[in-house]
Amino acid sequence: MTKDELFVLLEEKFLTYKDLKSTPVAENHEPMVSLKKSGVKFTLLDGLIPPSTGDDIFVRAGVSEKLKKAQLMIADLIDGCVLDIVYGYRSLAVQKNSYEEFRHIISNQPNPPTSEDELNEAIHRLVAVPEVAGHPTGGAVDVRIIDKDGKELDMGTPAHNFEKESYTFNPFLSKQVWDNRQKLRQTMLGLGFAPFDGEWWHFSYGDREWATYYKKPYAIYDQIDLDSVLK
Ligand SMILES: [Zn+2]
Repeated sequence: MTKDELFVLLEEKFLTYKDLKSTPVAENHEPMVSLKKSGVKFTLLDGLIPPSTGDDIFVRAGVSEKLKKAQLMIADLIDGCVLDIVYGYRSLAVQKNSYEEFRHIISNQPNPPTSEDELNEAIHRLVAVPEVAGHPTGGAVDVRIIDKDGKELDMGTPAHNFEKESYTFNPFLSKQVWDNRQKLRQTMLGLGFAPFDGEWWHFSYGDREWATYYKKPYAIYDQIDLDSVLK
């Protein structure tokens, strides 16, 4: 089996755009909170997906409480390290721009998907299709683990590295990297977050990914326009 064939087997286990599309949403109107005000450690990364809430990160109140617990647990589990949040709420406009960028990249690769459905599934493995995306609900977060000097714990790739090497269960990495990824995943799942196993750093609560992963009857966080909420 080639490396690419093995990655395809991993992709078959991810939740798909189609899975999420059919999951209903019943908004519970939980407020959005600032991580700055909540005292949750975060860092804004320079990367492919620009920040969408200035120099702060916003998440749902329940997510912020879970992140506080996750930070205590990671500090206990891995000496000298902390959980660092690198993305939370994302405006639908930023989500749409990123989706269009990745759509352009994938459409211009050799042997691009031939149908619209296949193209959307391929894009969704890298950046969620806007209509089902978790970040615009305030329920999804991207996280990493850093030491006291700000150096990332070795996860095989940096956070927000949108390549197959970032698949959580990528077996072509060292045992140490495997263990680091599993410690993060188990901590987050232990607090009720759902994983996205195409990106070792992405977890969510309350959104369609979460509802689908845990077979809940519906998601509890709908996508929102943060500007209108904060006014
Ligand atoms: Zn994410």
